[in-house]
This record gives sequence, C-alpha cells and structure tokens, in this order.
Amino acid sequence: MNPLKPYYQTIASMKEKGLYTPVRVLESPQGPWVTIDGKKLLNFCSNNYLGFAQDKRIATAAIKAIKKYGVGAGAVRPISGNLALHMEAEKALAKLKGAEAAFLLPGGFIANIVAIATIVGKEDIVISDELNHASIIDAIKLAQVKTKFIYKHNDMAELEARLTEAVAVAKTPKSDGTKPVILVVTDGVFSMDGDIAHLPEIVRLAKKYGAVTMVDDAHGEGVLGDGKGIAHHFKLAGKLDIEVGTMSKAFGVLGGVIAGKRELIEYYRQKGRPYLFSTGLTVADAAAVIEGVKILTKSKSLVRKLWDNAAYLRKEFQKLGFDTGVTQTPITPVMLGDENLAKEFSAKLLARGVFATPIKFPMVAMGKARIRVMPSAGHSKKDLDYGLRAFAQVGKELGVI
Ligand SMILES: *Cc1c(COP(=O)(O)O)cnc(C)c1O
Repeated sequence: MNPLKPYYQTIASMKEKGLYTPVRVLESPQGPWVTIDGKKLLNFCSNNYLGFAQDKRIATAAIKAIKKYGVGAGAVRPISGNLALHMEAEKALAKLKGAEAAFLLPGGFIANIVAIATIVGKEDIVISDELNHASIIDAIKLAQVKTKFIYKHNDMAELEARLTEAVAVAKTPKSDGTKPVILVVTDGVFSMDGDIAHLPEIVRLAKKYGAVTMVDDAHGEGVLGDGKGIAHHFKLAGKLDIEVGTMSKAFGVLGGVIAGKRELIEYYRQKGRPYLFSTGLTVADAAAVIEGVKILTKSKSLVRKLWDNAAYLRKEFQKLGFDTGVTQTPITPVMLGDENLAKEFSAKLLARGVFATPIKFPMVAMGKARIRVMPSAGHSKKDLDYGLRAFAQVGKELGVI
C-alpha cells in the first residue's frame, strides 16, 4: 500500500466536514473588483488595504527598477545578491517605523522565523498570546523552546503571572552560563478578529520583568498610526525590541521585515538562517516597497478612506443584525460559527457577485467559523452597499439574521 494514502483519504473527510478549501483563480488584477470564472465579483477578502497591489505608481516604479536591474537578486544576499534597492527599501522602512534599522526578508512568515528562532533556543523562554499568527507558533516550534507559556488572548493579568514564572525559571543559567532570554511575543492586530494587542501594557510588563518584546505588525502597517504601524499608533516608536512586519498586506507585494535596534538587526544579518540560505527579494518587490513608503509618507488620504469604509461597513453590518465580533480595525469578521454554514454563506455570496471566502479551522478554532470581510481604500460607498445587500439577502435566507 502507498504509505501516503492516509493523507489522500483525509481529503475526503475534510470535504465532508466543510474543511476543504477550494482555491479560486483570479483572472484580473487584485482590486476592489476581481474576475473569477469570467465573472466580475466584488472583492471582500483581500489584504490589499490601500490598493497598493495594483497601484499604478507602484507598478511604474517596479517596471522602472526592472528595466534598470532586471528581475532577480540572483543569490542569497550575503553571497552576491545584496542589491542597492534592498538597502534603500530597508532604510525607508526603518524611517517609516521610527526604528534604528530594518531588515528585509522574503516574507512575513520567514521574518517571524528569523526574529524568533535566531535569538531563542531550547533553554530560553517564550510567552505568547494564544491567538498569535501561525508563523509565530511555527517559529517557536522551530526554536525548540522547552519553556513556553501561552497566555489567554490579550489577558494582561495572565501575562504578568507567566512573566513571574518565567523570571523564576530564568534564575537557572543556560548551559553556556548566560541568562535565558524571556521573549514576549504578540500579534499587533489579530488577523482573524481585528482586535489590537494591549501593547503599552505589554511593554510596561516586559520591562518590569526584564523580558524582550516582539510585535508582529502584519495588519497594522499601512493601517494603524496613519499607516506607520502599531508603534506609532501607541506612541511606542523605538520602544519595542523587535517589530516584525510584512510587505504582503497593505504594501501589496511580497516580503517581510524586522525592525529594531541597529545591533539586533546586525545580529540577525549574521545569524538568521532563512536569510543566509534563501535568496533576497526580487527587484520588483524591493522597488514597490520603496514607492509604497513614499506614498504612505506623502499622504494620509488612502489610510483615511480605508478607515471611513471600515467604519461604515461595521455600522451597517451591525444594523443588519450581524455579529462582527471584537474588531477595532478594518478587519470585519462576520461571525457564523459552524464551518458548513460559513461555507454555504460564502457560496451564496459568490452567486450574488460577492467574493468573500469562509475562514474556518485551522485558521480559527473549530466552531468559530466566519466570513472575514476586508474593506479597502479602493472600495466606493456603492461597492460597500452592493456587498451589504448580498450579505443581508444571504443572512436572511440562511436564518443568520
Ligand atoms: C499574513 C501574516 C504573516 C505572514 O506574512 P507573509 O508576508 O504573507 O508571509 C505573518 N504574521 C501575521 C500576523 C500575518 O497576518
């Protein structure tokens, strides 16, 4: 028998439970409207907050860079693939975030692995919010940390209790004689619910107990703090030890970033394995990041439009009787609970011209399925009303409202 057969059988059972994900194919740019199977659909589920994925200015900057540099870095950066564009993009990002230095990697997932697994090992300690992103969870696994504490979502009393325990554990030096690192790590904006970490309190507690702070700002960049991210939102620029981010959400391209003190970034550049053994960003991505920072720095209008749209959408969903959970940001979950209900809801939306994929296990806990609506600066009021009408119809049809 084929030893891989049990995996294939899993597919059948996933389909039964509504856990199988059919992946749609976009035949158009990633914009407020997309074409799927030849049909024009309202796009209610991208992370393209500001429309940067199809922004003409950014596309032009990328094309210009390609004409000058070609398409690829051609090697890992420490060997021969370190482009002037990479350095320029890093400088721009550091400035935007108000950090001493920034470090670009080929994705946010990878950035979390570098940020965590490079400074935390078996004998160190990690304290992590239970709703942190999968890439943080996997980075902690990769670090093989023996002492890890998962605290209840955003529960600062539990965080303090865990810090106290961690401090006790850290009294025993590591086998090389040094003191264990205590790392407190959290998503900035929680990607499935849209609520924000209590970062000022996290920073205060971490400082009190001598822990290192790390925030993953994937959904905060381009969104919070006039687009400069969560550190600016909370006036904490320069006060966080490690800030991770992604170029793959509001920036509309691909890439990850770590920002922090110059010495820390230098350490990552010497020791981060995914940096040492994986090729640098493409020319188009690096050029797009530079142009994206320029646009964010010049004008707040896109960020404002995004928030206006988000506020309108949330208010109207609530008026209709939908449960939008605990969101504080443009991430607008429409809570449904049952996996199959979410799947059916999404299919019916699609038939009415709205593209909004269901979010279900393992992206959220079992029984907490939802449709996560993502407004963008590119949507008009008319677009939002079109989507709301479809939600109202399907919601009534399925007895949700
Ligand atoms: C999307 C996301 C990532 C991964 O970023 P990529 O650049 O897409 O790899 C990491 N952390 C959080 C919180 C995210 O939402």
